[in-house]
Amino acid sequence: MPVSQMWTVATYVLRQKLKGRKRYPLVLMLEPLYRCNLACAGCGKIQYPGHILKRELTPEECFRAVDECGVPTVAIPGGEPLMHPRIDEIVAGLVARKKYVYMCTNALLLKEKLHLFTPSKYLTFSVHMDGEKEHHDLSVCKEGGYEIALEAIREAVKRGFRVTTNTTVFDGVSSKSVRAFFTEMMDAGVEGMMISPGYSYDKAPDQQHFTGRELNQSMFRKILSNRDPRWQFNMSPLFLEFLMGKRNLECTPWGMPAYSIFGWQKPCYLLQDGYADSYQELLDSTEWSHYGYESGNSKCANCMLHSGYEASAVDYTFSFKGVFAAARAMLLSRYRDPEAARQVAAEKPKSSLIQIDAIAPRHTLKGTEVAVGGKLPDGIEQAFDYRGDVTVTLASGERIEGYIFDRESKADPTASTLRIMTKPGEKVAIKYADVAQISFSGRDMADGRSWEAWIRKYAERKAAGEKNIELVPETID
Ligand code: SF4
Repeated sequence: MPVSQMWTVATYVLRQKLKGRKRYPLVLMLEPLYRCNLACAGCGKIQYPGHILKRELTPEECFRAVDECGVPTVAIPGGEPLMHPRIDEIVAGLVARKKYVYMCTNALLLKEKLHLFTPSKYLTFSVHMDGEKEHHDLSVCKEGGYEIALEAIREAVKRGFRVTTNTTVFDGVSSKSVRAFFTEMMDAGVEGMMISPGYSYDKAPDQQHFTGRELNQSMFRKILSNRDPRWQFNMSPLFLEFLMGKRNLECTPWGMPAYSIFGWQKPCYLLQDGYADSYQELLDSTEWSHYGYESGNSKCANCMLHSGYEASAVDYTFSFKGVFAAARAMLLSRYRDPEAARQVAAEKPKSSLIQIDAIAPRHTLKGTEVAVGGKLPDGIEQAFDYRGDVTVTLASGERIEGYIFDRESKADPTASTLRIMTKPGEKVAIKYADVAQISFSGRDMADGRSWEAWIRKYAERKAAGEKNIELVPETID
């Protein structure tokens, strides 16, 4: 990481501390679109109706969000950001603002789109690589995905771009294989690597390979102990210690806020508990005590996500004890651990088709209706959780069809509001008191049916001896 980047981040954090800000953003997770050219089994980000997947943030909307929160670093996940037709303008505008940009890409389009960008210390391609070839291809559900991404990494490095990798580790992966993969990536010329446990997206097709906290810690202890001195990680060393179970941190989800077509996501990149229209509104209107491991919220119990905990590690670094802890972590970065080494050596090879075997269709509410009355708040919660369009019939008889992306339920129904994004892309607010009926009218994009079909087709074509099978489940109507 360039010294100038470390200096920018350090002075930014110190300024926040001098101002006495308890909650401040460090990295903006800017999601300019949800559309993707992959449909990975462990990702629930693209399970939306077609009209949502077709929408995207304009460059101006992206700049407004970045200017508003004032972060030094912007990560651009998605969806696949290289599918955004104006991604070059977005990146150029952020670089002109001297923001350190990490474009998180699966790299399928990287080689052909590299000419749109200019190498700069402000721009890094953070390539999604989930492990060695076989594991990566299964994880992203595309044979040949590894080779395409690796070729793009080499080309980007050759042309002088900063390149890192971004790896999600799911249950069932072999630590031996992840360690070999680290060496492969360093050999390919990447500047550093990022690593994270599988996010438990509740809409992801594969729900069986997210790990719990203790399992994560023992897995990361094996992966990250006895490090090869060539491995470089583009992450806070204290966050890596947290993953290995050597350090406790509290979640600070406001440190890596997520902004998308719906607004500022509450409370974090992983959970979707509604949206705010500004970063300040996100800070003021989120009940932060309801989230994080210590809160007892079951949705947070197993989370060790970087967007919840890496900002905590950086914040801790700028404390009296934290400076010494970080210095120690950087100087003694091998983490010698004979027991971890023994466990890695004793590991048996794992079955590889872990992601694909596990997918099962889910119960869906499609075709059902919720009537008004005492059941309305519960019905609206179900509709808010539904990954398909609904039709809201108002007491006036008017019908509004679209995707419910936000709701705020208060004791007084006249003060409770839901927000719906209609097919033309309008955000419409509706008072609970005005709702007569809600029908689950659109296709449920998280019901697992497209995945069932995918697995069947995959198995058939594989049995027929076909190579390089590429089957992206139908996600856009
Ligand atoms: S613990 Fe994880 S899921 Fe819970 S608020 Fe923090 S980042 Fe989000």
